[in-house]
Amino acid sequence: MTSEKPMFERVALVGIGLIGSSLAHAVRRGNLAGEIVISTRSAETLARAEELGLGDRYAADATEAVKDADLVILSVPVGACGAVAKQIGPHLRDGAILTDAGSTKGSVMRDMAPHVPPHVHFVPGHPIAGTEQSGPDAGFASLFEGRWAILTPPPGTDPAAVEKLSRFWKACGSKVETMDADHHDRVLAIVSHLPHIIAYNIVGTADDLESVSKSEVIKYSASGFRDFTRLAASDPTMWRDVCLANREAILEMLGRFTEDLAALQKAIRWSDGDALFDLFTHTRSVRRSIIEAGQEIDAPDFGRHTEIGGDDN
Ligand code: NAP
Repeated sequence: MTSEKPMFERVALVGIGLIGSSLAHAVRRGNLAGEIVISTRSAETLARAEELGLGDRYAADATEAVKDADLVILSVPVGACGAVAKQIGPHLRDGAILTDAGSTKGSVMRDMAPHVPPHVHFVPGHPIAGTEQSGPDAGFASLFEGRWAILTPPPGTDPAAVEKLSRFWKACGSKVETMDADHHDRVLAIVSHLPHIIAYNIVGTADDLESVSKSEVIKYSASGFRDFTRLAASDPTMWRDVCLANREAILEMLGRFTEDLAALQKAIRWSDGDALFDLFTHTRSVRRSIIEAGQEIDAPDFGRHTEIGGDDN
């Protein structure tokens, strides 16, 4: 999707891991920026981004990267968003749109908002797209295709800025939805954060077993375990930050999950086959609805690398 005049004059990508590098590819492919400027915390990652040719310009200092950018996107762990906003805030251009890709939104709004000058449009965002890979080599242009991007503009945000950022995500291939940050965090707690926590837990439990050897766990993993290991291979820094940043909603969902698990345990103990059958029949229909909605993760039209599989965070 190319157009004569790019949507933005200069896009600054602060953080160039999986999400930042995928954005770089998508921006380039769609001709969405006159110039892509990249900044990241470490010299090594910046050098790698340059080797990969992800941007037009590279800045070790984020304040330098955001200068004169009309779109600034933070793709750093959510626990780092506040510190980065504090650093770049005074250097943001008049009328710039400042957004992020963080997987939690309440904490990002709380941490970033105090550092956003009044002349900047702050529109937090979250692409519901990802893989368990990290770093600048992991990105690809089609990551966002057919996936949702959620925007959580604080009350009073200029609608024109929200509209322009929506157009940007659509040009990257996403579908866009707007909601408030608290609601986002509750929804994501159940559809993303809890599944990852359960995966980390089950893989840890299997690894600690004494009666079943590690080699047996690996050998027979295709019977179900393997699917959890993909989620449990996700980036530890990112997921530590998500758990800390969305603590309340995650604890609420974990509470409900634990109650339901206890009921399931009881059904198994009492050999209540009807209860088990009813639950498994009901959950099967949820899977069917996901496929019907085109959100089934392995579908090739999501542009996933088939050997990687999908992971939407
Ligand atoms: P990633 O591949 O691990 O890349 C992280 C980037 O942030 C790197 O450029 C890294 O810099 C930088 N960074 C790490 N710690 C930092 C700190 N303390 N201060 C400043 N910069 C720091 O991560 P990602 O998967 O792209 O995730 C980026 C954001 O997108 C996160 O907020 C995550 O919640 C969100 N997200 C992720 C996914 C997913 O599936 N991975 C999906 C949707 C949203 P150096 O390498 O230079 O140290």
